[in-house]
Amino acid sequence: MTPSVAILGSTGSIGEQTLDVIDQSPDQFDVVALSAARSIDRLIEQARKYRPRLVIVDQPSDVATVAAALPGTTEVACGADGLTAAAEMADISVNAIVGFAGLPVTMASLAAGKRLALANKESLITAAPLVERVRSTEGASLIPVDSEHCAIFQCLHGISGSDRSVRRLILTASGGPFRGRTAASLNEVTVAEALAHPTWSMGPKITVDSSTLMNKGLEVIEAHALFGTPFDQIDVVVHPQSIVHSMVEFSDGSTIAQLSHPDMRLPIGFALSYPDRLAVPFGSLDLLQATTLTFESPDRATFRCLDLAYAAGRLGGAAPAWLSAANEVAVDAFLEGRISWGQIAKIVETTLDFYSQDPLSSIDALIAADAQSRERARTVVAQCSTT
Ligand code: NAD
Ligand code: MG
Repeated sequence: MTPSVAILGSTGSIGEQTLDVIDQSPDQFDVVALSAARSIDRLIEQARKYRPRLVIVDQPSDVATVAAALPGTTEVACGADGLTAAAEMADISVNAIVGFAGLPVTMASLAAGKRLALANKESLITAAPLVERVRSTEGASLIPVDSEHCAIFQCLHGISGSDRSVRRLILTASGGPFRGRTAASLNEVTVAEALAHPTWSMGPKITVDSSTLMNKGLEVIEAHALFGTPFDQIDVVVHPQSIVHSMVEFSDGSTIAQLSHPDMRLPIGFALSYPDRLAVPFGSLDLLQATTLTFESPDRATFRCLDLAYAAGRLGGAAPAWLSAANEVAVDAFLEGRISWGQIAKIVETTLDFYSQDPLSSIDALIAADAQSRERARTVVAQCSTT
């Protein structure tokens, strides 16, 4: 039977690439829900093409506009309730929303015993203890779309990341546009420079996160949550060519890696078709044409967000939620020109100083932690902006 697919965040970088994968695999997937927060014209265009049963917008004021533009068979919903309904209905939900706003999709898809194709790392890392509970729902599966975690998932091939034979997970990082730069030379970087990623074309938030190495920090916590590997056994290595997407080192000395050209359609297609593989290739390598592969240590003193993330991950509880929320506030402020690039790490660090032990026992506690961290981070941003 053709699986039904909900693509939440369908107008973004991952959302559009998901539709491209589906276009190139005719009759294999049935698109039943689409959602976006902005780009309403593009959302309408997509809905006219795919004729989903449900379209979800973020602003109540957009509901009437979208409903008027679509045929009577498409229902238009709004916000978290709409996202939850989509995730409960579809066999596969692709969570391509950016930030904490993706939480309802992650929780609802797993709680309904469905397949979650997860690009939205923020929901997993902030809600890890809560996600862990719904993950065991009968029929539920969580397949990572993040390229590094898709690589590790393939290297582990069904064994747990805490298995005694796993010595360590090695996440690769491109290093971003500022690799090799000193902290002093980074004080004056512009938004445009931070958005010029050398190997991947992605949405603005994750591109800025790649420039600070916060993206890699979030991915370390994501790897811990997905595979259960202790933090001491998760390493990061900078690999500027973005060909080796990550590796697993085993106790007998073997290291297994997954390689391809950087193309997110490969992990998206993997998560859609698992345990089968798509018939169409994306990113396949011609080794004779491949450039030299190089590896180096991350510069942890200049890119402080990496260790801030390790620290929050080790604290556990609501600490990753505080880290992620503070980072979202700081990145928004940077993109809007209110703070400098160098202040992003400072804002996250200062906000985390206000975190106190919180085991994160419920969704309400998580939403409260997110709100507290945002409020604190906004105060710190305001202080930065005036100095
Ligand atoms: P993007 O900014 O290009 O797209 C985000 C999508 O989410 C858009 O459709 C937008 O309308 C929607 N959205 C934004 N705010 C929303 C809100 N408050 N409520 C509901 N919908 C909202 O982002 P992206 O680069 O596609 O990234 C999406 C997620 O995938 C992120 O969590 C990112 O870390 C992860 N990811 C992306 C890539 C990539 O190559 N782009 C790679 C790995 C992981
Ligand atoms: Mg990644």
